[in-house]
Amino acid sequence: MEISQPRIRSLMRQASRVEEAGKRAAAEQLYRQILDEAPETEEAWLGLARMAADPAAQEDAYERALELNPENKEAKVGLADMRGEPVPEAWRKQVEAAKAPEPETEAAPVMKKEVETAVPAADGHEEVYEFTCYRHPDRGTSLRCYNCHKPICASCTNKTSVGYICPDCKRELEDKFFNASAADYLIATLVSLPLSLMAGYLVWRLGGGFFFIFIMIFVGGAVGGLIGRLTKKAIGGRRGRYLPHLVVVMMILGVIVPGLPLLLSVAAGGVPLFAFITPGVYLFVACGSAFYWMK
Ligand SMILES: [Zn+2]
Ligand SMILES: [Zn+2]
Repeated sequence: MEISQPRIRSLMRQASRVEEAGKRAAAEQLYRQILDEAPETEEAWLGLARMAADPAAQEDAYERALELNPENKEAKVGLADMRGEPVPEAWRKQVEAAKAPEPETEAAPVMKKEVETAVPAADGHEEVYEFTCYRHPDRGTSLRCYNCHKPICASCTNKTSVGYICPDCKRELEDKFFNASAADYLIATLVSLPLSLMAGYLVWRLGGGFFFIFIMIFVGGAVGGLIGRLTKKAIGGRRGRYLPHLVVVMMILGVIVPGLPLLLSVAAGGVPLFAFITPGVYLFVACGSAFYWMK
């Protein structure tokens, strides 16, 4: 199978080195890590099937490999062996032949760099893992936090769009990103609630009618965007994890409160449900827009 990502390719090579070195647990961990990132990697499922300590996990991994490629002989032979079923000798020979050392491919330069940065063990042999996790000194790893470059094990990584990040850096970045204080939440409430109530009141005044429903798609976005931007401005542009949600709640209240008499008379059967379409469209569009601006 074609493995397109250089990172996955390099991890696969490392995994097979670890596997060849007979470090089953480490190899299993590496294959699992690869599959976390790229579950379509047929070769990694085979590797996991060979290395997994748990027979159920082995069987499952062979099955996943077969799902990806129903013609996969190694998976067929492996599964048959596990289940004590007979397999054609030709298949077994094919699998043996495939295990012969593969020629170097264009992935080689990537590997070379990795080997160069590897820390040689005391006996002069290169360690399979270059680093140990800074939070788990007993765990070998080849991953580093892209932010602080400290080595981290697979269970300490947080995947971001730019790479892996350690838990400390993640917290730090989040603190930096969400910089709103409790006062900002109060201010956001005091700004967005009256605005939302005003908008909600006007929306109810419009009533139903196709024209208003249609217009609401545009007006709702503009009003929601305005409420979002004004609120954001009032809190100095700071971000809060739940500030967008807060403003959306205020906007929902802004529609419900002025509409309460109407909502109650619906229960008594006095108002057609049609009357709720305009406020509904307004809320849907405006909340989405405000949420966007508050982020
Ligand atoms: Zn870090
Ligand atoms: Zn760790």
